[in-house]
Order: sequence, then structure tokens, then C-alpha cells
Amino acid sequence: MTDLSGLFRPDRVAVVGATERPGAIGRALVENLTRFEGTVLPVNPSRETVLGLDCYPSIDAVPDVETIDLAVVAVPADVAVEVVREIGQAGVRNVVVVTAGFAEAGPEGRERERDLAAVAREHDLRLVGPNCVGVIGTAVGLDATFVDGYPDPGPVSLMSQSGAFVAATLGWAVRHDVGFRDVVSLGNEAVLDEVDFLEHWREDPETAVVLAYVEDIEDGSRFVETARAVTPDTPVVAIKAGRTASGARAAASHTGSMAGREEAYAAAFAEAGVVRAGGIEAGLDFAQVLAGQPAPTTETTAIVTNGGGPGVLAADAVEDSRLTLAEVDRPLATTLRERLPARVEPTNPLDLIGDADVDRYREALDAVLGSTAVGGAVVISVPTTLFDVTDLVDVIDSVRARHGKPVVTCLMGGEPAERAAADLAALGIPNHFDPGRAVRSLACLADHRAIAGREYGAPRTFDVDRERATEIVADADRERLGVEATELLSAYGIPVPDGELVDSPEAARAAAERLGGPVVLKLASPDLVHKSDVGGVAVGVPVAEVAATYERLRERATATRPDATVLGVRVEELVALPESTETIVGVTRDPQFGHLVMFGLGGVFVQVFDDTAFRIAPVTEREARGMTAEIQAAPMLRGARGRAPADLDAVVETIERVSRLVEDVPEIAELDVNPLVVSPAGVRAVDFRARLDPPTADEGSD
Ligand code: ADP
Ligand code: MG
Repeated sequence: MTDLSGLFRPDRVAVVGATERPGAIGRALVENLTRFEGTVLPVNPSRETVLGLDCYPSIDAVPDVETIDLAVVAVPADVAVEVVREIGQAGVRNVVVVTAGFAEAGPEGRERERDLAAVAREHDLRLVGPNCVGVIGTAVGLDATFVDGYPDPGPVSLMSQSGAFVAATLGWAVRHDVGFRDVVSLGNEAVLDEVDFLEHWREDPETAVVLAYVEDIEDGSRFVETARAVTPDTPVVAIKAGRTASGARAAASHTGSMAGREEAYAAAFAEAGVVRAGGIEAGLDFAQVLAGQPAPTTETTAIVTNGGGPGVLAADAVEDSRLTLAEVDRPLATTLRERLPARVEPTNPLDLIGDADVDRYREALDAVLGSTAVGGAVVISVPTTLFDVTDLVDVIDSVRARHGKPVVTCLMGGEPAERAAADLAALGIPNHFDPGRAVRSLACLADHRAIAGREYGAPRTFDVDRERATEIVADADRERLGVEATELLSAYGIPVPDGELVDSPEAARAAAERLGGPVVLKLASPDLVHKSDVGGVAVGVPVAEVAATYERLRERATATRPDATVLGVRVEELVALPESTETIVGVTRDPQFGHLVMFGLGGVFVQVFDDTAFRIAPVTEREARGMTAEIQAAPMLRGARGRAPADLDAVVETIERVSRLVEDVPEIAELDVNPLVVSPAGVRAVDFRARLDPPTADEGSD
């Protein structure tokens, strides 16, 4: 791992391209550096001084140039690469290039960025940017950015793929008393990327939480692997832009059309242990609570309020989150009765009633946080003349410190509440007007606790015929595979209906006799994504009708899809498992994260409900089990309403085996088992299709 502390805690900083010209970035940089505790060294061949500081004609004209810790480059794009080369030659190792006009600016810019990266490699430079707004290190008062707003020191380190996000966030943070440790605008990431900074902050004891604004992650596997190692100790909160960019989904019910970029990122963040925030404010809330508060010991939550309505809103939000409403058990009820007026009902939400004063809040909060039935609390106050919210802040702080449990607040009202909010922020308690937001912050602590306690097992190994699967794929002289290649599944131990591929009515009948009808006939045509749409599937055909059905299927294929290649007809065993459900197991290959495995409700439901779960391959047993539990139809599989529970172990194993298959045979770009028929007596992969595509160098690297 490279040490990046020189970027955030330098002693001598050169600004190459420093100037006094109003409106110039080179001027804003020098101005922002006035609060810097170290030395600022402007470099510009056409100036003697910049804003009262001695200016040097070039980097190597600076005395003791090799002791410069950081060079910030704000020269025009056409000379930037040359300037960075000089910096490297002079022995400076940390460089921030704010200059734009690189990969974001067309082919010439891309070329320039390649040159820049090459120079950086040559001189072993830790280079941020280009095309970024700069870096901040509050430990030494370093504001090497050209944007407004400098945050207070604090425990959160921020990285952002958008410079505008940095500018916007800093302004907001200053107003809301959120403090930062290090801030980096990543720009085009020609050299250093989000993974490098994750590694750096992992080793930084002063960074309690990493907040990341992410638009796109280049090396998905490296990100997941690194984040996984970082998140148990240093929570990572990600705000991901482009959530809806998964685009228009085709109605086709196969994994390739269902898995957008969003699913890949959601799966990657989940597996990496990254806490996902829905927006900027939520991201800052989450960072703040994770930095300032202990994790709840249990997910049971108490709500203490002096107003009924907001308490109900909070209770709804609790139900919608990972948290649950704590039950008021007998010991807690007794304590509450002893310590509170008789007209306060010992319930949760605990309504202290409109005449509550600060003492009543103290008694109530102390009682609920003292209860083993409560993991954390939400404190709500609507303004009354009976107390001063500032006093309530003191009460909250002292009581929560005594119990070591997290508390979030919703102290409503105008100006006094705003002052209280500032005090709370300093304590790591984000105050919200909206009870829902307060609850979501508390839930995020529980989310992270679940992440930190997670164990990542290795994927299970199974006895599989890898050679046969590789052979089938190598022999395929087409991009698409259909039921004729069902053997790909059986080679990996996935149960399929017994059957065979035939190409005459006589052979069809013979096959049916062997299987013992009634049977299923289906067109084996890789070109037909939905065989039944063209009448290509006949279910429950008696042996006597098999020959005629064979003819009919072939005729239909010719009539409706003359262009489709038909490789024959598969005659197979009729799968009639009692109390069965059709599910889907699918795979698609994502350019950044590799194979993405999907499980969901299958058959016609796929299109109607979109009830699916995704993981990045390789899928472990724990992950596969998580997928079966995560879909909305999970209760149905577990056996709701008197149904016998499905054989979930068999489902889990099928997901793992499919994951193994695509890992072993990376040419599989898409695969669908739809339906995987699931019943109490096991599973059967009743339909199969795949698309082959040799992986490119940066794909399928998992
Ligand atoms: P496609 O999805 O291309 O239309 P399938 O092979 O999935 O074709 O068949 C359509 C439907 O027919 C399946 O969803 C399933 O309900 C039923 N089916 C197919 N094969 C069998 C089988 N062997 N046993 C029982 N039902 C089957
Ligand atoms: Mg199907």
C-alpha cells in the first residue's frame, strides 16, 4: 500500500500556476491556502510574488525542492504533462492536478491523460486528478482546493468522483457542523482511485468513517475485496449516483435484461459491506452517526416523545427498517410506572404527554436505555413552553453516555431547535425534523453492526465435471445455447429432467417409451428465447401422441420463425413435483464486477413482480441462503399458509453450483434456468438457455 499522508498532511506545498489574476483557479488555490499551517510556495515564471508570497519561476528553482511534500498543479492542459514531469524530476512525490482537459475532453485529452499516467508511473508519483477540485487535510489546515467552504476538523474522510459534489457538500457541512478529516476530489483517477484511498484511510486512526460519492467503479473486484477488509473497522458510506441508469428494461424474462448497472452496484456494495445512502443528506447523516455513536446491541428500538403524531411516524419508520420496536417487558414497565406520572402509559412509543419537562425525559430515557429489551432510542420533542431544548440536549448526552447506547433525535421547532441541533452534531447525533430520517440514521448503525459481524466463508466446493462443461462450450459453434445443451447443468450436478434430443417422430416416440409418458416435448432452438410463445412447448403428452406432437412443433417453428435454427426436439420427463413453485436462477456478466448471479420468482412472475436478489460470483452458501431469504416471495418458499416448506437446501446448492459453473467456464456471459422448479421434495432445472461470449481482459477477473 502506498502512503498517501503527504497528500493530506504536507509541510511544504508548491502551487504551480499560482497567480493573482481575479477569477483564476491559480489564485483561488493560493487564497484557500492562507489558513495552511505549513509553507506555501507559488510557482509561476511570469511573477515575482503572488498575494504577498515569494514566487519561483519553476519548481526546481524552489530552495530545497526535494523537501516539498505536495505540488498542486493548475497550469493549462497543454503544458500540464510537462510540468508534472518537472515536478517528478525534482523529487516531489505527491501531486494534485486540478487542470481539466484530459480524458473528459475527447480523444486528444485521453491521449494527454495516458501521457500523464506514464509520467506518474515513471517517477512513482502519488497523483490525484486530473480534472478535480483538489484535496483538504484539516489536521494541518490544508485547503488545496479552489472551491468555497472549509470544514471543521472531524472524524469523516470524504472522497468524491464529482468535484461539484465536494463543493456542495463542504458548504452544507459547514452549516450543519459536520467535521471532516481528509477530503479528496478524485477527478479522472488517472493514477490514484477510490480503492487507494480506502486502503489509506484504513490505516489512519483519525478517520472513523469514510464517505464516498461514487459514479462508476473501474475495477469492481478490487473494490469489493478492499472494502470488505476495511468496513468492519472503518465504516464506508457510499452515495451512488445514477441509480436509475439501469435504463429501460426489456420485458424479456431473462437475467441479461433484468440486471442493470444498479443491481451490480447494489450487490457489490452489499458484499463489500458498504453502507448505502440514498442521497447526500442521508450520506452525511450516516457518516455522522457511524463516527459518533456506538452500535446498538440489539435492533430493538424505543421511541420517547412528548407528542403522539411524530411518535407514530417514527414507529412506522422503525417497522420499515432493519430495526424493530422494543417490547416493553415487565421489568421495564415496572420501572416506567415507578419513575413517571401515572397518566404516562408504559408503551412504545412512549408518549410522555405534552406537559413533559426535562426531568420527565431524563427519567424516561434512563429507564428505557437501562432496559436489556432496548438497543437504542429515538428522542422526539415538539416545542412546548415547559422546557428549553438546550437542557434536553444535556440530558440526552449524559443519559446516553451512562448506558453506552445510540440515540438519535428529532427535536422539532424553529430557531431554538436549530441551536440544539448544532450542539447535537458535535456529539455525533444528527438532529432531524423528520422522524423517519432520524430512524434511518439509527438503522444504519444496526446495518453496519450486521456487516462488521459478518463472516465471509469461501465458496463450497462440489464434485463437478468441469472438463465436460468446458468441452460443451468449446464445441458450441454458436453464441446461444438452449435445451440441447442441458447437459451443461447436469455436468455441474444440477438436477434436470431426464430426456434426450431427437430429430425424428420415431426417435421422439422411442424416447417417450423409454421415459414412460406422459412427457414434455420442446423445441431445441437457441434462437427462441421464449419457446412457449411460438407454441414450441407441449407439456403432458401421452406416448401415443408423441410422434404427431413432434411433427406439430416442428411445423409451428417453421411457420412462425422460419429464420430460427431448430436443432431438434427435446423429449423429457414431465416434472410433476407436488406443491412446487417456479423460480429462476440466472447469471449475467457485468463489465466491472464480473458474473452476477440472480435468484427470484420464476415463470410468468418474473415479468410481473420483478422479485429478485443478486450477488456477485463466487456465491458462498451464506450468500445463496441470503438470496432465498431476501426475495419477497421468501415466505412462500418457507411454507406459508399450510404449504409444505420447499427444499431450500437444494435451491441454495443449485445457486452455488450455477455460480461455480460460470466461474469455471467464464465464456458463459449469460445463463438462465427458468424455471427452476422448487418443491418440498427437491428442485429440477426445467429450462435452460445461455449466451457465450469470450471474456475480455478486464472482465470476469473474479
Ligand atoms: P420457454 O421458457 O422457452 O417458453 P420452457 O422450457 O420454460 O420454455 O417451458 C415453458 C413452461 O412449460 C415452463 O415454465 C414450465 O411451466 C413448463 N414445463 C417445461 N418443461 C417441463 C417439464 N419437463 N415438466 C413440467 N413442466 C414443464
Ligand atoms: Mg423457460
